[in-house]
Amino acid sequence: MTESTLRIGLVLPDVMGTYGDGGNALVLRQRARMRGIEADIVSINLTDPVPESLDVYTLGGAEDYAQRLATRHLTRYPGLQRAAEAGKPVLAICAAIQVLGHWYETSAGERVEGISMLDLTTVPQDKRSIGELITEPALDSGLTKPLTGFENHRGGTTLGPDARPLARVKHGVGNGAGERIEGAVQGSVIGTYLHGPALARNPELADLLLARALGVDELDALPLAEVELLRRERLAAGRRG
Ligand code: GLN
Repeated sequence: MTESTLRIGLVLPDVMGTYGDGGNALVLRQRARMRGIEADIVSINLTDPVPESLDVYTLGGAEDYAQRLATRHLTRYPGLQRAAEAGKPVLAICAAIQVLGHWYETSAGERVEGISMLDLTTVPQDKRSIGELITEPALDSGLTKPLTGFENHRGGTTLGPDARPLARVKHGVGNGAGERIEGAVQGSVIGTYLHGPALARNPELADLLLARALGVDELDALPLAEVELLRRERLAAGRRG
C-alpha cells in the first residue's frame, strides 16, 4: 500500500454485513482500480479500535443483537465520528442508519443509545418491511438516477431537522414512520435502507462516494454493460412489485 492508496474502511463486517453489504467496499475498490487508482480495503473488526484516518467508510446491516455489539464498539472507539467530522464520506446501510442515529428501539422494545452522527431516531413498526425498494433521489442529493435495492427491516426511522432524506420512495417502504422518504444525508454521511449491495446496484452512488473520497468533482465514466443490465432487470422487477 503506497501513501496515495485510497483506503476504504469496512466497518465491523464481523457483526454488520447482512445480505452481502460488505460488497459495497468491494465495489468502491473495483471502481477505483478500474480507473487506475490504487485502493485497498481495511477491515475493522470488533477486536480493533476504529481508525479515523481512512478515506471512506462503509457499514452494513445487522440483526438486533449484532447491531447492539456494533453500537457499543463505535461508542467506545469514536474514530468514525471523528472521520465524519473531518468530512470523510460514510455509507451506512440499514441497521447502520439506526446505530448512527440518536437512539433506536429493538424489536423487543429496548431503547439503545446510538452515536448521534445522524439526526434521527428509530422505533419498530407493526409490520416488517421486506422487498424491492425503488426511490427517486432528492434534488440536493447529488444523484440523478433512480436508486434500487432490497429492504428488510422492522425499524421505522424519523428524521430530525439536521438530516435530509436521500430519496423519495416510488416502490416499497423506506424509512417508514408515515412518510414516503428513504435514507438520510447529513454532512458527509449517507444512510440508506438499500441492501443489494447498494453500490453494486447503484454505480452513481458508488462514484459519488468515490469522488468525495478522492476529493475530485468528477470521475472518468466507467461504462459497464453488465452493471447497466443488472440495474434494468432489478428496476423492472421492483416496479412489478
Ligand atoms: N435490525 C434492524 C431492523 O430490523 C436492521 C435490519 C437490517 O439491517 N437488515 O430494523
